[in-house]
Amino acid sequence: MSNKFSRRDFMAASGGIGLAAAFSGLAPMVLTASEAGADGKPAVLGGTPLNQGAYSHWPILQGDEEKMVLEVLKTGNWFRGDSRLHMVDRFENEYAAMNKAKHCIAVNSGTSALVASMAALEIGPGDEVITSPYTFIATINSVLYHYALPVPVDVDLESFQLDAACADRACTSDTRCLLPVHIGGAPADLDAFSEIAKRRELDLVEDACQAHLGRWRDKNLGTVGRTGCFSLQVSKNLSCGDGGAILTDDDELAEAIFKCHNNCRGRSTDSFDFTYGAARATNQRMTEFQAAVLLGQMKNIEAYAETRQENGMYLNRLLAEIPGVIPAKLYDGTTRNAWHLYMFRIDKEGFGLDRGKFTDALRAERIPCSTGYGAVDWVDFVRNTYASKTGSRLYPKKTLDDWAERVGTLPNFKRLCGEAVWFTQNMLLGPKKNMEIIADAVRRIQKNAAEIAKS
Ligand SMILES: *Cc1c(COP(=O)(O)O)cnc(C)c1O
Repeated sequence: MSNKFSRRDFMAASGGIGLAAAFSGLAPMVLTASEAGADGKPAVLGGTPLNQGAYSHWPILQGDEEKMVLEVLKTGNWFRGDSRLHMVDRFENEYAAMNKAKHCIAVNSGTSALVASMAALEIGPGDEVITSPYTFIATINSVLYHYALPVPVDVDLESFQLDAACADRACTSDTRCLLPVHIGGAPADLDAFSEIAKRRELDLVEDACQAHLGRWRDKNLGTVGRTGCFSLQVSKNLSCGDGGAILTDDDELAEAIFKCHNNCRGRSTDSFDFTYGAARATNQRMTEFQAAVLLGQMKNIEAYAETRQENGMYLNRLLAEIPGVIPAKLYDGTTRNAWHLYMFRIDKEGFGLDRGKFTDALRAERIPCSTGYGAVDWVDFVRNTYASKTGSRLYPKKTLDDWAERVGTLPNFKRLCGEAVWFTQNMLLGPKKNMEIIADAVRRIQKNAAEIAKS
């Protein structure tokens, strides 16, 4: 891996950029370990932190961003509608080509990508959208935005993904759409969701906000469903601060999405030619500035995806050997995980520590980690949202009571929220040695679990 991003590349990437000093690191963050390694005394008990290096900042400048942003700025080509630089058009073409999709529509956020997809599919009041409870709140909000009813159904504890069998059972005559989320960038079971969508004549929309360049069999994530929705927010594997993209192979749907995001105006219409016909439209356009950043950021996106895949699979092997550590399972059709998050569970009995003590101890070793999503009470959340005047007219108490009964208690979701640990994608961008340092830190904590538990 380390030769993929040579020092020369880094110098080229950072050279001449005044702001580079604010970015703490080069692409491969080469960590160093304290001498004692996994056999040393845990840092939480007073030992030397296992990681003696520093993780670099994300995003990482690739070199062309400054030039391209300044070109947009100085030439006054700020708006995609009349830009001679065609930055947004270029981003759309490149992103579609990279994913072997027929169309890409750039928007201003991942949330907008979901909202525009559902607008174009004419999902509205009374329609049910089946989705995962283990997701960022935007997934649920995008459904509520259309006054449709989100139906969160339970996850597969092993994979962290929406459970296809639960989704199938939750379908009613009001179900219009399946909205699996490729959480962490790992593919949901797209064979199963495609089969259910086909059999039940439902739209399949992929929340691929975390899943750039992930792959299911021979297709990229986001190109299996009718649309795939991506976030380009700053934490994501491809970013411009805030932004989003929608992929689809359907010509008519692409045009409808374009209209939805552009106040009913189609791709071919000029500024003064208003043609209507989209379901619900607003302005969710991407600016030329955002696209300029994205075009610069895309330079190493494929190499980064490969590095994350190699390192993620390696870390899976290393961590699976440690008692009580359970890396998220990948489904058989997975040909590449996008690894937006490296996700695993801590089994308290097997490991000998509860998750809270584990993450404290891991942070003491200077390995940053998160406990991920909290167990949001989605039933309460939706009830509160639809307590509004409009909401209660559309969804009377009886309707919501029946719905709440169907949603049930989501036991796997709750358990997952209590056991999950995440690493962020940039931690998988260094050399293999970095994975060994992470695994050694976890091993050191596990070996001393009894003592840490007492401390
Ligand atoms: C980030 C994210 C979104 C929303 O994207 P924004 O660009 O922040 O609007 C939606 N769904 C999931 C799963 C996400 O991770």
